[in-house]
Amino acid sequence: MRILVIEDEERIAASLRRGLTAVGYTVDVAHDGIDGLHLAREHRYAAILLDLMLPGLSGYQVCARLRAEGNNVPVLMLTAKNGEYDEAEGLDTGADDYLAKPFSYVVLEARLRALVRRGGARLSTVLQADDLWLDPARRACGRGTDRIALTPKEFAVLHCLLSRPDEVVPALDVIDEVWSADYTGDPNIVHVYISAVRKKIDIPFGRNTIETVRGAGYRVNARA
Ligand code: CA
Repeated sequence: MRILVIEDEERIAASLRRGLTAVGYTVDVAHDGIDGLHLAREHRYAAILLDLMLPGLSGYQVCARLRAEGNNVPVLMLTAKNGEYDEAEGLDTGADDYLAKPFSYVVLEARLRALVRRGGARLSTVLQADDLWLDPARRACGRGTDRIALTPKEFAVLHCLLSRPDEVVPALDVIDEVWSADYTGDPNIVHVYISAVRKKIDIPFGRNTIETVRGAGYRVNARA
């Protein structure tokens, strides 16, 4: 059972690694949000212990990006902040549970065990537009029986559009969901990714599932 700990405080990270290893987990540690997100994308973890205040990307951002990419790994958010508002915000970005520091190791281990158990039974919805399908649980995509390989970002962009069928989705909404709200690069990035996705899901099949609505955004035609 492999667990990812994303925590920048070396002392806490080391003690989590020791404690969890002692009870039989295999533990990977990342000390900032960017490395943590990278590891979470590369490996299948039974759960992630995610600190809120991290260099690089915050815990909220890491969690929101994983969820936008259809990654449903159970996340236990660790934070020094304590208050109902923060808890709501944490759960809002897709964290499954929340533990305020300083925490008791016994409580942490019990909550982690419960999360891992629930994670195995988690349901997730397969999104569809006609015969195009996207399965977040298996991180798979296809058209009919043909499988289509997407990169994590392409997957996230398509997930964002497919979850709002027949609705015009502004490029900025896609940026918020896939790149996070503080993305300051070229907003044209969305167009670049949509083109790449179209080359995989539409053009080879002679279809037009993703439509550009000039000056407004993009729309998935649920029956195209
Ligand atoms: Ca921290």
